Amino acid sequence: MRLILLGPPGAGKGTQAQRLVAKHGIVQLSTGDMLRAAVAAGTPVGLRAKDIMARGELVPDDVVVAIVADRISEPDARNGFILDGFPRTVPQAHALDRMLAEKGLRLDAAIALKVDEGILIERMKTRVEQMKARGETPRADDDPDVLTRRLITYRNQTAPLVAYYQLQSTLRSVDGMATIEEVARAIDEALTSPGRVKRASAGRSTRQSARKAAKGAPRSIKATKTARKAGGTTRKKAKSKAKSPRKKAGKPALRRVARSTSKRRRRLTKHK
Ligand code: ADP
Repeated sequence: MRLILLGPPGAGKGTQAQRLVAKHGIVQLSTGDMLRAAVAAGTPVGLRAKDIMARGELVPDDVVVAIVADRISEPDARNGFILDGFPRTVPQAHALDRMLAEKGLRLDAAIALKVDEGILIERMKTRVEQMKARGETPRADDDPDVLTRRLITYRNQTAPLVAYYQLQSTLRSVDGMATIEEVARAIDEALTSPGRVKRASAGRSTRQSARKAAKGAPRSIKATKTARKAGGTTRKKAKSKAKSPRKKAGKPALRRVARSTSKRRRRLTKHK
């Protein structure tokens, strides 16, 4: 199974990703974790990403795409994966489509966690308090000002992906404001629900009817275009010719503009 988790920072993508990993035996690929590891190791990528991440901005697409391309080619990703934090921009989504197509793979679903952004700041503050209480150091970007910037970055650059995956019919939206268990249940349902099957079979039946229609059609689009170029008659043209009362009466056809309103047609007809 290959999944994407979409949602603003603090929406609970990481939590849900971990559960899906255990349930489906797939790997979680978090670009945030990979970049933080690169920063900690002081690799060239890490050095490039460090300040960008601390400001709450996005690391350049080419850097992240290269990391993901390498990672999904590793043996443990063969069973499937859940991408957490990638893609984050439309060019990244295009790059992912290309990567998957090259491997003959496809995405099973893009799960969007819908959340109230105002509450996210509160959630993050609680998370930071809890981490401090446990003696842990919060992330460099776990700061209210930086979170606001990360939310703006999300809205501008990542939120358009919801429409992107909706158009690909892979989008499954889930209410991310419910409890962890309820969100988990909603995700499971979204991945197996009749809605999904319906959509899939609706897709098939649309394709089937398209095929049927194509069978009944006299010519392919290409053939129709060729006929048009060669001055030939398409079915549509033939139909409109057969129906034209002026043609039947042996009168010349009215100019196209004259057909736009009946008033103009009457006026033109009078003058003839
Ligand atoms: P969040 O809590 O916002 O979901 P992540 O752990 O996914 O955070 O990412 C932290 C930071 O890492 C982002 O703010 C961004 O700077 C960088 N990052 C992670 N994934 C990407 C990506 N796909 N494209 C660009 N930058 C990324």
